[in-house]
Amino acid sequence: MKHFFILICLLLVSSTRSTQANDVQKVLPRFLISASSEVKQDRKEIRRLEYSPRDYDAATAWQKQVRAELVELLLLKGSLADREQWDLGVKVLSTTEQPGYLLREVTFNSTPNQRINALVTLPLGLGTGLFPAVVCIHGHSSNRRSVYESDTIYHGFAARLAAMGMVTVAVDVGQHEVRNPDTTLMGERLFDLIRCVDYLESIPEVDPKRIGCAGLSLGGEMAMWLGAVDLRIRAVVSAGFLTVMDQLEQNHCLCWKFDGLRERVDFADIYALIAPRALLCQIGEQEPPSQFNKVLAKQAFSEIYRIYADKDAPKKARLHIHPGGHEMHLPTLSSFLLEILGTSP
Ligand SMILES: [Zn+2]
Repeated sequence: MKHFFILICLLLVSSTRSTQANDVQKVLPRFLISASSEVKQDRKEIRRLEYSPRDYDAATAWQKQVRAELVELLLLKGSLADREQWDLGVKVLSTTEQPGYLLREVTFNSTPNQRINALVTLPLGLGTGLFPAVVCIHGHSSNRRSVYESDTIYHGFAARLAAMGMVTVAVDVGQHEVRNPDTTLMGERLFDLIRCVDYLESIPEVDPKRIGCAGLSLGGEMAMWLGAVDLRIRAVVSAGFLTVMDQLEQNHCLCWKFDGLRERVDFADIYALIAPRALLCQIGEQEPPSQFNKVLAKQAFSEIYRIYADKDAPKKARLHIHPGGHEMHLPTLSSFLLEILGTSP
């Protein structure tokens, strides 16, 4: 905008100096018209797939198209198709008993060339049968253990779910290194989580129809992506992340961004791919205005809500503004997952 005004001033000065006063009338309007259509063009190239209200079937068709385009941009199409042939090759490294559950360290194959470490918990003393399961996701500067630790911003939410009788799994979310040059950072992060769902499905005690995911911050972002792309996820808790892309381009790490994303969608559209499956977004009242604040969260949520209304599931999308800061709020996380995924056998 600053350059725009400087250019106008220069144009006016040079035109005023000109002995041909008529040139100002001729040149200035043309310049303004061309600048304004350029601005319009720029905005057109942002979020061209934005969701707008439509009927149930048209909403499903929109989801299918947007999901396919995003999977393509994430460079995940090949791996998603091939992974059924890829053996997980699970190895148990250790098992320890915790109050109410067994904690195992395991490794399995994400791709044929990449093994990943995971923590998994199995309920104890609740009998036999099928259990609900949750992929628990950490954010920046944390690791798979952080979500089980009570003295962190995660408040040990994974341990809480484990003690409630849910199977849980957590892996290290890629921070800023891309392991394979033919992939994207976001695609690698997401694919590891999709393989967690494959792994959960391979556990005989897990009910494959009752798998959810939950995360905070970057983990809340990854919960959004996992729910959006993997239709096996029945419930998503996305904490400390709901915002708009214009905001996240300021004062924040840009690792959420990749080529072609902004041109197609905003975060509300990615969340919209989860409908009509259950979604709980949490935002802390004490989040600083420059970060994941409640005003922008409400704005984004009102956009997500449109597709839930179109899909006859308005009660499946919820936004909880809690009194805390950038942290997981355990009471609503637990009650939401219990309500949607159910209790143990
Ligand atoms: Zn980052």
